[in-house]
Amino acid sequence: MDQLLRGTYGQKVGCQGLAADPSSAGIAKAVDEWTLEFRRFQTHKEELAHEFYSEGFARVIPLARQYHERRVAFFVINGWTDAIQICIHNVLEEGGHRLLAARFRSNHLNGPDEIDCVIVPCNKCLRGGY
Ligand SMILES: [Zn+2]
Repeated sequence: MDQLLRGTYGQKVGCQGLAADPSSAGIAKAVDEWTLEFRRFQTHKEELAHEFYSEGFARVIPLARQYHERRVAFFVINGWTDAIQICIHNVLEEGGHRLLAARFRSNHLNGPDEIDCVIVPCNKCLRGGY
């Protein structure tokens, strides 16, 4: 699992792309408080973007980060059935929240160090650009 590479989550604020990666403290808080996010990022992109922007520019990144933390917490609690997708270069293609949940389980909840993955064609893969 440590060998898998993933890009960090970001969010556009105006014309700038800023990092909005979840923190493990934030994931732990969401797990403790049971504030789990049921919405998939890809299928609710517009709705989520609307929420992130609803409290003004200064709140976009905190709200985006909180979404990712709660989404990861959802998988920490509920687990998942569809395997994480990686390419032959060990770059994550699909399943960032699941990978972060697996890492959280491994680091904080005595979870396994290895996870099931399926190999898919390179798409997001930057072929060594990481
Ligand atoms: Zn690749």
